[in-house]
Amino acid sequence: MRFADIGLSDELLRALNEAGYDAPTPIQAAAIPQVQMMRDIIAIAQTGTGKTASFVLPMIDVLANGRARARMPRSLILEPTRELAAQVAENFEKYGKYHKLSMALLIGGVQMGDQVKALEKGVDVLIATPGRLMDLFERGKILLTGCEMLVIDEADRMLDMGFIPDIENICTKLPTTRQTLLFSATMPPPIKKLADKFLSNPKYIEVARPATANVNIEQFLVNVSQMKKRDVLRDLLRTETVSNAIIFCNRKTTVRELNTSLQRHGFRSGEIHGDIDQASRQKQLEAFKNGDIDLLVASDVAARGLDVKGVSHVFNFDAPWHPDDYVHRIGRTGRAGAKGKAFTFVTKADEEAIESIEKLIGNKIERLGKIEAPAEGEERGPAKRGRRTSSAKTKEMRSDRPEEAVEALEPVRAKTVAKPAREKKAPKAETVKPDPSNGEALGDDRWNGPMPGFLGVGFGTT
Ligand code: AMP
Repeated sequence: MRFADIGLSDELLRALNEAGYDAPTPIQAAAIPQVQMMRDIIAIAQTGTGKTASFVLPMIDVLANGRARARMPRSLILEPTRELAAQVAENFEKYGKYHKLSMALLIGGVQMGDQVKALEKGVDVLIATPGRLMDLFERGKILLTGCEMLVIDEADRMLDMGFIPDIENICTKLPTTRQTLLFSATMPPPIKKLADKFLSNPKYIEVARPATANVNIEQFLVNVSQMKKRDVLRDLLRTETVSNAIIFCNRKTTVRELNTSLQRHGFRSGEIHGDIDQASRQKQLEAFKNGDIDLLVASDVAARGLDVKGVSHVFNFDAPWHPDDYVHRIGRTGRAGAKGKAFTFVTKADEEAIESIEKLIGNKIERLGKIEAPAEGEERGPAKRGRRTSSAKTKEMRSDRPEEAVEALEPVRAKTVAKPAREKKAPKAETVKPDPSNGEALGDDRWNGPMPGFLGVGFGTT
């Protein structure tokens, strides 16, 4: 099937042609005709499947007829994070270049002034995160009674982030005759309940998970002790043909510390996580996209759904607690037909998480290296772990010998050394901070991702 066969306008076909897309992806082929028929849809699809275009394309054609009115957006797209909202806006610009449609992006972390001005002029499409939208709504800056089409994107992530009450609230402000499209990677009960309440006779569409079905991603588990993670990572970065990589950590603190450590070792790296303001996040992202930095250390929330072309590797410095996060993380590579590799570090404490991941993806992931005995000091409780002396630091620096780290990684040793590490002169000794995953107290060890189900807080997505 080709785009020309599914009844899109000539202007859209031209924009698609210029974007280099000729054939719809499965989600696009299934969803676009339903949206054109004004049906509500529930689409079970992940990022990487082309799901954004599956609502952006038909929405552009629907909006082509009609005019925007002041403070009354004609359609609304809800996204869980600012980055995803910005990405959807980019899609609108790309596919809507031959249409005269106006758009406003309402996201937290940026000045409200321009957003309000755009709204006052009247917009066809409003792309928003729920928090900022509710904020402006409550200030009387928006009327949602003219919204004929609503997209709730990444609904399961909205759930993880606690946005469902906001979404329910928003739904009640829209006309009941609207068309609603709900996209989610999974369908946990609270999302099903939301769909039952706010969608009308929806068409249910499900496409294969890209990461599990994606033969373009080679996946590996790397047995490693907590203490050796940085050594092993640096070694992999040196021995693998890494053109660029996203490195995921479970906590903001780890993101920050790992980025600092990588920079000290001469790698060109940056970081994104929830504590970094929007402008800096965009800057880091642009630097990564432009190739000014090769490594992006990230938290789940900040990196959710990021669409960067040609990411060669994903490293899970910490194994994710949620199996769905694994699928999302590794889906940052192997995109649009390219090949990618995903390495997940596994400590003894991660075995249960790995079991859930393998269950979800329906495969055993190849393991590299033997299970190491815990490194010296690792089993000591937090009470015994005082501040490290400079001799302890020196010892740690000495353990930066590649051969020690590589011992556990025999199967990948045969690779060419594509890129020697860009070592600066003599790397300074790292400041060794306590590691929360070893049970040590930290000022900032707030979990930056979804609340794990086993803590009994919130809803699980599995
Ligand atoms: P998404 O799942 O919306 O994040 O899209 C994933 C990637 O697929 C993005 O880089 C899109 O630009 C790309 N894409 C979307 N539609 C198509 C298509 N029909 N053919 C090839 N690539 C596409």
